[in-house]
Amino acid sequence: MKLLEDRIRKDGIVREGGVLKVDSFINHQMDIPLFREMAREWKRLFAGKPINKVLTIEASGIGIAAVVASELDVPVVFAKKAMSINLDYDNYETQIQSFTHKKIYNVIVSKKFLTPSDHILIIDDFLANGCALMGLLDLAKEAGATVEGIGIAVEKGFQPGGAMIRQRGIQLESLAIVESMDAATGEIVFRPQPHQS
Ligand code: 5GP
Repeated sequence: MKLLEDRIRKDGIVREGGVLKVDSFINHQMDIPLFREMAREWKRLFAGKPINKVLTIEASGIGIAAVVASELDVPVVFAKKAMSINLDYDNYETQIQSFTHKKIYNVIVSKKFLTPSDHILIIDDFLANGCALMGLLDLAKEAGATVEGIGIAVEKGFQPGGAMIRQRGIQLESLAIVESMDAATGEIVFRPQPHQS
């Protein structure tokens, strides 16, 4: 999506270690008019899919997912990072390795809010190694919910998550795919996606 790529070029900051900072418009301060345009693009890309719920993970997915849910007129559920495994049978549970914090989280979602009748669109801000998404896919599988697709704001195409998800035959729409970035020059190269606006 050209709008998002242009914004990343303008305001994104490339850090050493393959980290892209987008905290001035995506995951600390949030640009809601930009999120609205992104939500409209996902609505177009997933048109015809019987989506009745948006699923994301706290914290930085929530803002974008809420705007997408508003655009699709469906509820949004976020998976919660729990301090410890708790044997509460009212939750589905999985474990996720965090790219940014180098920690393993237990992640839960209540059985009340994810069920076999759900057709979900998963939304998150970043896709890197795919650990967060694999955790959300686990939770959806435990619940017997159908995953209609995945929408990601920024995919780092030089990390393996995107290929892993696409191999499973899931429709994955990342609105910006970074092929390469250079911390010394700040240069960012995006993968062309002719089917997007
Ligand atoms: P994954 O589980 O795919 O390795 O990483 C996904 C999560 O890590 C995202 O939800 C995001 O919070 C965080 N993340 C991964 N790479 C980056 C990055 O380059 N910049 C920022 N800001 N967050 C990242």
